[in-house]
Amino acid sequence: MSDKKQLTTAEGCPIADNENSITAGPRGPLLMQDVQLLEQMQHFNRERIPERVVHAKGSAAYGTFTVTNDISKYSKASIFAEVGKQTECLLRFSTVAGERGAADAERDVRGFAIKFYTDQGNWDLVGNNTPVFFVRDPLKFANFIHTQKRDPKTNMRCMNMQWDFWSMCPESLHQVTILFSDRGLPRTLRNMNGYGSHTYSLVNDANERIWCKFHFKTMQGIECMTDEESTELIGRDRESHQRDLFNSIAQGDCPKWRVCIQVMTDKQAHEFKWNPFDLTKVWPHADFPLIEVGIMELNRNPENYFAEVEQASFSPSALVPGIGHSPDKMLQARLMSYADAHRYRVGTNYQQLPVNRPKCPVMHYQRDGAMSTGLGGAATNYHPNSDNAAPKADPVYAEPPLHLGDVSVDRYNSRVDHDDFSQAGNLYRLFSDEQKDRLTTAIAGALGGAREEIQMRQLCHFFRADPDYGRRVAEKLNIEVPAEMLEAVQS
Ligand code: NDP
Repeated sequence: MSDKKQLTTAEGCPIADNENSITAGPRGPLLMQDVQLLEQMQHFNRERIPERVVHAKGSAAYGTFTVTNDISKYSKASIFAEVGKQTECLLRFSTVAGERGAADAERDVRGFAIKFYTDQGNWDLVGNNTPVFFVRDPLKFANFIHTQKRDPKTNMRCMNMQWDFWSMCPESLHQVTILFSDRGLPRTLRNMNGYGSHTYSLVNDANERIWCKFHFKTMQGIECMTDEESTELIGRDRESHQRDLFNSIAQGDCPKWRVCIQVMTDKQAHEFKWNPFDLTKVWPHADFPLIEVGIMELNRNPENYFAEVEQASFSPSALVPGIGHSPDKMLQARLMSYADAHRYRVGTNYQQLPVNRPKCPVMHYQRDGAMSTGLGGAATNYHPNSDNAAPKADPVYAEPPLHLGDVSVDRYNSRVDHDDFSQAGNLYRLFSDEQKDRLTTAIAGALGGAREEIQMRQLCHFFRADPDYGRRVAEKLNIEVPAEMLEAVQS
């Protein structure tokens, strides 16, 4: 048997000639019947998806997170379960302002987005190489990004826009100072720290919450460039950081980061001189010392940039039991906007793509949408249901309530203290005898198509609204209602 690889169309049909279109005579014209040519041209037109509005230029690598220190007293997250435990991860670095073709070595904040494929779902920590940000209120975010992009008329970056905004938003000064310091020009992606930046929460087995910040300290040492060095580098290599990361890993020189946390109790948070949830502030190391958690190593380059980096979708909303959000306003907004951006940019079912797909089972009631791979199969697609085999929620994963003065943030049972029967019964009693008859006939006609245990469950509701309502439906369904059931619903 030949080991020749046969070229095919996307439908898998063998192709005879991939260099000459079908034409009427050697000079043309082309024929519509050349579906091979049409398919190629049409697919080519669709090769690009919208680039990210921010963080468009990125480089990523897979790696391993290994626990080196037990922090189970702070978090029950399975990723931290025991010293030595390893979890696969993907880290995507990026610049913020530049488009997909921008040079890597420009002065900018660097994105530092990590996806941990934990055994209790994906945990995304979507951070930067700086511990703070330019604004503390998400209402300013889109406006801020406009100032970092191009002037609407000249299509050029504009210092007026940038400094006009910054000079009117003094909360930017901390981040501006870091951006224009040496660290604004990292020599390589391996030689910079990463920060979760936001305040998150950790929850332990006793369901106690503590506030937390994440730090990733480069084990290659911080190394930065001067403006002159970066200008010279960009002149000869626009892909310098991608090249350095890819080649280092390909050569077995695998970069590592020491993963640390800072923790703050709720009492300390109330006493802290700044708002601990303000993204423009750090928690001083002296007051909140770094606690080592583990080591993250990048050790595998993606095989296909588009599939594994361009389509990699990170969202702070990807949290796992034991790691939660906080009142940080910027984080709260990002919980929505990142996943929303991926649904627009990659597609409704971006979480089903191999790079984004959790390594643990995924079972929910979301269905269909563009490019669905059929997640859920033939299983029940609604909840609540009486299907014992269908996935169920487990209160063991409930986060503790967050007390905010007079109110607490929690999932409140919307059915407790609610009377679902009186008004339905009042309406029934308004009906004439003929209307009651038509209503119960229509209901019996529809309900008769459901399984018997569903009919019985629904009958109880009719009886609770009005005994006559229940009796008429039962009669029309030919169901003899047991006396004890009547007593139960009327008590
Ligand atoms: P600390 O003395 O406790 O912290 C100093 C930290 O500053 C260092 O640990 C280092 O962070 C960071 N740092 C050192 N040199 C530079 C530099 N050239 N550019 C940017 N950051 C540097 O003081 P504070 O905690 O009160 O922080 C002082 C300032 O340091 C902050 O306002 C912030 O700008 C910056 N910083 C603070 C961090 C924090 O979590 N407290 C983290 C990063 C920066 P690292 O060890 O992470 O490299």
